[in-house]
Amino acid sequence: MKLFLLELFTSDPGKESGRAGHLASANSSCGRQHTKNVGQLNALQKKGLPHPALCPLCDQVEETLDHLLVSCVFSRQFWFNLLQGLGLQALAPGLDDEIFDDWWDNLSSRVSCQIRKGANYLVILGAWNLWNHQNMCVFDGAVPDLNSILSTTREDLQLWSVAGAKGISSLLAPATT
Ligand SMILES: [Zn+2]
Repeated sequence: MKLFLLELFTSDPGKESGRAGHLASANSSCGRQHTKNVGQLNALQKKGLPHPALCPLCDQVEETLDHLLVSCVFSRQFWFNLLQGLGLQALAPGLDDEIFDDWWDNLSSRVSCQIRKGANYLVILGAWNLWNHQNMCVFDGAVPDLNSILSTTREDLQLWSVAGAKGISSLLAPATT
């Protein structure tokens, strides 16, 4: 599952028609090779394309994939609020969590077997929506909007649940009772 997500973020731009391809040169790795020092900024710089000097979500530090997904203040707030809605806020990334893959491993190991699959789906959807939200800020001039990305991610979770993703149904069940 993690491999799948990393491939989404790091796919070859020549094979990718959407915006996701612009992370391409950032990393072609899989498994546990970290993406800490690579990211969209480097990819755009290498291509000579316009790029934000700082993370478009917090405007505080240079952007990397790990920063975007887990250590950005915006992302941390996003994960906390998203998980809080499911009573899982204790699993939200803290100040010491700087590597997305490590945080995900830790989260996955701390939940019960009954909701682990759903929790992994939650991380995938959350990361995917953070990525898309960042793209909207970079390419469409959107302003970082926590409520918007939370709403989108919760809707996605419901849609995946309705579509039959049983892991998500189990994850959502405690929150809806
Ligand atoms: Zn940031």
